[in-house]
Amino acid sequence: MIGVTVLGATGSIGVSTLDVITRHADRFRAIALTANTDAEQLADQCRRHRPKYAVMADADAAKRLRGLLADMPECPEILSGVAGLEQVAVLPESDFVMAAIVGAAGLRPTLAAARAGKRVLLANKESLVVAGALLMEAVADNGAELLPIDSEHNAIFQCLPPNFADGLEAVGVKRILLTASGGPLWNWPIDRLASVTPEQACAHPTWAMGRKISVDSATMMNKGLEVIEACWLFGTDTDHIEVVVHPQSVIHSLVQYEDGSVLAQLGHPDMRTPIAHAMAWPHRLDSGVTPLDLFSVAHLDFHKPDLLRFPCLGLAFDAARIGGTAPAVLNAANEVAVAAFLDRLIDLPGIAAVVGETLAALPNETVSGQGLEFLLDVDQRARNCAQQLVRARAN
Ligand code: NDP
Repeated sequence: MIGVTVLGATGSIGVSTLDVITRHADRFRAIALTANTDAEQLADQCRRHRPKYAVMADADAAKRLRGLLADMPECPEILSGVAGLEQVAVLPESDFVMAAIVGAAGLRPTLAAARAGKRVLLANKESLVVAGALLMEAVADNGAELLPIDSEHNAIFQCLPPNFADGLEAVGVKRILLTASGGPLWNWPIDRLASVTPEQACAHPTWAMGRKISVDSATMMNKGLEVIEACWLFGTDTDHIEVVVHPQSVIHSLVQYEDGSVLAQLGHPDMRTPIAHAMAWPHRLDSGVTPLDLFSVAHLDFHKPDLLRFPCLGLAFDAARIGGTAPAVLNAANEVAVAAFLDRLIDLPGIAAVVGETLAALPNETVSGQGLEFLLDVDQRARNCAQQLVRARAN
């Protein structure tokens, strides 16, 4: 039996992961499940999956969970806070850790799992954006495995040869073509973007996801974060990554080789495919996703991204090129700005404005030789700055 810790079990990725685990109950067992505040859903998941541990990041929610599970026979041990998340990321009985907490809040437990030499199934792209060097180093130094869950990165991983860590040039790769759905607003007139509501921004045409990543998808910041993620995962730079808008979300990304070959991975837009791939790798597993019928897909479209409409994508490319603390600042400012947009404090174009102004306001610092505490301090300073900018815009 393979033991799995699911960080962010109550989210969109967490629920899909538990679906794959249920389909293969003879092979996988949920050892620990975590959430932030949704004690009701976590209680329900605990009754169905009977994990040994349940963690609520929020202490009050942990108390609620204890009440909800008081009558459960063999009740899981209930932990709380970041310490609880880190504890279940390194359990000896967990072989795999699904890192599916949203935002930089996922960094500490993800890093802990890598340092404990686990197979880390990485959905939490923000961890790599904030602390790419630290996380990659932890993976290499501790014999951990880092398998991408983001559908694009999982597709690229599948299209690369097994020895891609020798360097993309060494294995004949010319460039990575990172596909993007374009989100719900990709063909909206620019002058209407200020009127977009949180509901419209979250109404993704092809993917059902959590609210933060849905807004990131609407601004294309998600693709920007993914560019940075791809640089770390595949040891490349922005000159070797091209973003291609592909509204049908059937091709999940492509790798172009020197000899003219282009390899792509296709499938229905359903996260159970990359999750099952990463859980079974190097083998294959039934994910429950219906097979792709090319005749019903009929045609596939491709467009260049419009950086005027999607300034967040340009900001992320710039941050990736600048390096240092710029990606961490970009991520923190974006998290604050997206939360403010969802709370209707700023409009959608305000997200790029807050991120751009935060990047301009803070000095870029080198990260080489720096540890986690330094990066968390950078993250906090960027949040403080972005919050001030949000307040100024909201007044
Ligand atoms: P959701 O918002 O649906 O779920 C987030 C999960 O994280 C929930 O379990 C939530 O708990 C928990 N959580 C939120 N804040 C905290 C915190 N401060 N501390 C601990 N736990 C917390 O997000 P998604 O599942 O959509 O996304 C998760 C990650 O996966 C993100 O990094 C996203 O970019 C990435 N991803 C998602 C994809 C998707 O299809 N959804 C595709 C590719 C990548 P609670 O329910 O209690 O709030």
